[in-house]
Amino acid sequence: MYSTEKPRRVVLKISGECFCPPKERGIAMSSVMHLAEQVAKVARNGVQIAIVMGGGNILRGGQFKAANASIQESTAHYMGMLATVINGMALQDAIELVGQQTRLMTAFAMESVAEPYIRRRAVRHLEKGRIILLAGGTGSPFVTTDTAAAQRALELNADVLLKATKVDGVYSDDPEKNPHAVLYPELTYDQVQQRRLRIMDQESIAKCGEHQMPVMIFNFRTPGNLERALQGERVGTLISEK
Ligand code: UDP
Repeated sequence: MYSTEKPRRVVLKISGECFCPPKERGIAMSSVMHLAEQVAKVARNGVQIAIVMGGGNILRGGQFKAANASIQESTAHYMGMLATVINGMALQDAIELVGQQTRLMTAFAMESVAEPYIRRRAVRHLEKGRIILLAGGTGSPFVTTDTAAAQRALELNADVLLKATKVDGVYSDDPEKNPHAVLYPELTYDQVQQRRLRIMDQESIAKCGEHQMPVMIFNFRTPGNLERALQGERVGTLISEK
């Protein structure tokens, strides 16, 4: 049973909204320090942590294109990918300030600020206890950092993919619109597909299912949640084979 095991290696997807207070945009170092403290604490206990940063606090390609006819959509997506590097740089300094070693790795070359992402090197960093920060998403436009997180969780042989968001988990309906919406503590990959629950893109959740990669979605603003999730407790919604 997942809840009784301590994951040895986790991929943590942190949405851009975790980098600033609710309803704000950009980066607030107080929010970033709060994340850093929680992550570093768990890393000190021996959990290997790879973090995939979102960029929505700065720019989302699809939204930017929709509001700006004069930009090409692919350019807007690359801008979104760059936003994740900005978040990664902020998180790197914050984590190192609280005494944990890190490596920032990017999916596309940015050699002055980060290492290129090379899977075998990433694994080595994890084995040495360094927290790795994976920026630049997949390096390709038209997808999101959720796709990148699923991809990295699979290729780094993570025990679980953790998705830190502003909602408590997966609901039967939009809880802001439907007061009868219920939170699912557990779901199977098949249920996610059949009920058309929007957690991450269909292809990524299907890939996680194909390779039995558990996915857990939880609210990072609930005190203690991030630490508990990183340590292997079930919080929010756990999606697995059974
Ligand atoms: N993005 C992309 N390819 C990727 C990952 C991200 O093109 O592999 C772009 C996309 O435009 C996305 C933006 O980067 O909207 C920021 O990422 P995301 O929306 O996933 O951030 P989050 O919602 O998690 O904050």
